[in-house]
Amino acid sequence: MLSNHTTLLGYKNSDSDKRSKETRLNPKIDKKTLFKTDICWRNVAILGYYHLAGLYGFYLVFTSAKVATTIFAIFLYIVGDLGILAGSHRLYAHRAYKAKWPLRLLLVIMDTIAFEGGVYQWAREHRVHHKFSETDADPHNATRGFFFSHMGWLLLKKHPDVTNKGKGVDMSDLLEDPIVRFQKRYYWPLLFVISFILPTFIPMRLWNETLSNAYHVAVMFRVVISHHSIWLVNSAAHAYGNKPYDRDIYPAENKIVSILSMGEGWHNYHHTFPWDYKASELGFYKFNFATAFIDFFALIGWAYDLKIVPQEMIEKRASRSGDGSHAKWGSKQE
Ligand SMILES: [Zn+2]
Ligand SMILES: [Zn+2]
Repeated sequence: MLSNHTTLLGYKNSDSDKRSKETRLNPKIDKKTLFKTDICWRNVAILGYYHLAGLYGFYLVFTSAKVATTIFAIFLYIVGDLGILAGSHRLYAHRAYKAKWPLRLLLVIMDTIAFEGGVYQWAREHRVHHKFSETDADPHNATRGFFFSHMGWLLLKKHPDVTNKGKGVDMSDLLEDPIVRFQKRYYWPLLFVISFILPTFIPMRLWNETLSNAYHVAVMFRVVISHHSIWLVNSAAHAYGNKPYDRDIYPAENKIVSILSMGEGWHNYHHTFPWDYKASELGFYKFNFATAFIDFFALIGWAYDLKIVPQEMIEKRASRSGDGSHAKWGSKQE
């Protein structure tokens, strides 16, 4: 969904490397140029529509929808978010663990429910985000402000650096997966059936919900809360929170984002150690439902080769580059 166009008015390619560096050092620089952007009207229409429809769905939750429909919407929100986190993010973008085909199939179906463009596109944008964080080549460059990194980047055409530098990111491993290839090829029909038609049909069939309630609550309202919960990782978790592992980067540890996104708010850790399947150091599944999900499938053998970071490496890194807020090793900082 919502892939941006590839040009951005107001930029000259020859200037962009210089600007990347300057922007990273000083986010306030060059604002006039930053906002000379080209709007992607198709995405404005899509986002505008489903936000209005989702708002109406929220109203219906309190007025006429059945409780079962609201519970079903929340269930789909959790399932979709887990598809993004455990699937597109930790399995496919970072290869933080391996999964047998039944789990990969399940995750791709869950990812389709989430309506975030499919595994291939999501993982591609995310690899570019990690490789070029907080530069013009970062699709949701947080130096351009909270709104841009949250959802504004979807409303504008891409900065040329995102496309040009992103070309160097290797995605061949994903294309070797037939399940990912299938989803990529048939994304739109799959999306309509799995994320729109079935979630509308099921409440109508199973508990006699009306068409309007089923559609506006279990589809539109659910999509809005699901998208915002994931977008907060790019916006709030790149702006607010402690930086116990690396004080020189934007990503931060944000508990609220972790709760809302099922476990992806421990973002200072994640950008420091992106290959850890937990995307967090914290044990006991602390606001990290996605880790519990992966652990369950590891228990039955569908997930394996789970990568974690050795304690000594975390300690060294936190002591060397953290902001001093680490619970165990923070006291070593001045
Ligand atoms: Zn990030
Ligand atoms: Zn990541």
